[in-house]
Amino acid sequence: MIDLRSDTVTKPDERMREAMARAEVGDDVLERDPTMQALEERTAELLGTEAALWVPTGCMGNTIALMLHLRRGDRFLASAGSHVLGMELGTPAWLAGGLPEALAWDAGPGRFSAAAVREAAGAPGPYFTLRTSLLCLENTHNSAGGTVTPVAEHEELVAAARQAGLAVHLDGARIWNAAVALGVTPAQLAAGADTVQVCLSKGLGAPMGSLVAGTAAFVAEARRVRKMLGGGVRQGGIVAAAGLVALDRIDDLAGDHANAARLAEGLAALGLEVGTPQTNIVMASVPDPGALLERMTAAGVLAVPMAGRIRFITHRDLSAADITEALERIAAVLQD
Ligand SMILES: *Cc1c(COP(=O)(O)O)cnc(C)c1O
Repeated sequence: MIDLRSDTVTKPDERMREAMARAEVGDDVLERDPTMQALEERTAELLGTEAALWVPTGCMGNTIALMLHLRRGDRFLASAGSHVLGMELGTPAWLAGGLPEALAWDAGPGRFSAAAVREAAGAPGPYFTLRTSLLCLENTHNSAGGTVTPVAEHEELVAAARQAGLAVHLDGARIWNAAVALGVTPAQLAAGADTVQVCLSKGLGAPMGSLVAGTAAFVAEARRVRKMLGGGVRQGGIVAAAGLVALDRIDDLAGDHANAARLAEGLAALGLEVGTPQTNIVMASVPDPGALLERMTAAGVLAVPMAGRIRFITHRDLSAADITEALERIAAVLQD
């Protein structure tokens, strides 16, 4: 099987497993696990924040941030098709009490403008006005096809939110891909955000783990909420050690991006309607995604349906040769 369903399917390699086996650990509920602490400090440094907190999943990281930003009934703004709106089972409403407002992509795929933020945030009104208190950003944007928001545009969005009195949360599950694609640091893409969520279990290849970052005061509260949600773990250094190895591999993502470009070119040559990927996600428009996916699966190529299209994601467990092989199998399916 050539598995292009997600970059989450990567498995820890020998070096990562060795680091996990050797990890120095402690009880992170009673005190601090030293390896989790090292991972948290290194991530905060990479993101330019005061502190960071390990969480088992990106969804928990986003949920904790939204729970701390929103009061019940507060409205929050997020991109149409964003993970927080469509793929977190309603937790922004159920657990954080937020009323979602989706922002249309008026600035390109997965991107909305600062003007749209100003317009949606509105002006403060009398006491009976709906309160809008948070802007959620997503970089790269998953369902739009791994699209990247450049630094200047990110800064404009943050400034517009600030002017309107909104806090800013960045869902940076794939911020590493955005940084590599743009040739900038993750900190440049997180600048000005109050809180940031990043994943280690996607392109960077760790078996699990995300971090939610912000001020030291935010992280102290986030630690309490993580425990409430059942995310307080004991010797988490075993998995944090994998996270530290993962952070050494940010530059490798350029290889995944090259493979995505190769895949997109090949699919286009086969007559599929495919845009040019900006990172490691390739979206293909076909008349009947379900039917083609079924035939691809029978031929040993896995992908997923997303937003009416087929989504392919390249990752570190797939080589350029695997992409060539996947294209040959898809070509055979299309010829049938
Ligand atoms: C994967 C992802 C998350 C977090 O997902 P988990 O499966 O909970 O780790 C959050 N946001 C985006 C954009 C994602 O792609």
